[in-house]
Amino acid sequence: MVHVSSACIVEEEWISLGKFEDFTDIPSKVGSQWYISGTALGELNPGDRSQQDRGPTLSEAESQSEWADVQKKIIPWGHNTPESDLELVFQDRAAKLGKSISRLIVVASLIDKPTNLGGLCRTCEVFGAAVLVVGSLQRVSDRQFQHLSVSAEQWLPLVEVRPAQLMDYLQQKKAEGYTVIGVEQMARSSDLAQYRFPDKSLLLLGNEREGIPANLIQQLDMCVEIPQQGVIRSLNVHVSGALLIWEYTRQQLLKCAEPAC
Ligand code: SAH
Repeated sequence: MVHVSSACIVEEEWISLGKFEDFTDIPSKVGSQWYISGTALGELNPGDRSQQDRGPTLSEAESQSEWADVQKKIIPWGHNTPESDLELVFQDRAAKLGKSISRLIVVASLIDKPTNLGGLCRTCEVFGAAVLVVGSLQRVSDRQFQHLSVSAEQWLPLVEVRPAQLMDYLQQKKAEGYTVIGVEQMARSSDLAQYRFPDKSLLLLGNEREGIPANLIQQLDMCVEIPQQGVIRSLNVHVSGALLIWEYTRQQLLKCAEPAC
């Protein structure tokens, strides 16, 4: 969980007072709450990595300067939320997510590397996939997984299906009306640019070295491939998954923009 200080700044963005010593007359030993600096901080030049939001009073010339746009540092649950209320905020968020139920299942049981799994977990959470299927739930406690997932596993349903159980799992999902889509370069795969995803889509990603094994290829309803231009044989598996997850999400967003939705 990310901690928010009483100043509503995410902990990792907090700058200690000592860092300002070189630029201001604030002595580091003085308590920050009580010291009023004689330095006009506004006269200091911001560096390339910082900029000031001067609100809507910018002149036309100023607003066309290279700083006309700013990076958003999003805290999904909003600013000014006391830590004690975060639980309620997350309950509310879960309820909202429940209303727009995603039907996308991402199956990553064949993936070996914790970095790929962790990154995929983050991507699935960001785009609201219904569930991420992993070969073992123990993978989640791996440090490399957690480094890449940035806590996404806490907000995304994870299900364990071991590689040996995948055949049965895919058959079960087909019986539930899911289209089982292999993400793989195959002789007869469809081009991602042309493919229209069904609402109930299941993506099966391949192993980093071996891809999707032949016995599971038999189970696929279809296979989708990302067209490549370069000389390298294939994409990284997390990148491949992310591109298909985004394309599914994009198509769902377009559907929801239609009047009938
Ligand atoms: N068949 C590959 C396997 C390695 S890539 C090979 O032997 O070179 C690992 C996984 O990334 C694949 O199984 C697939 O799920 C995905 N992948 C990589 N490049 C892809 C592409 N261009 N289109 C679709 N999936 C891809």
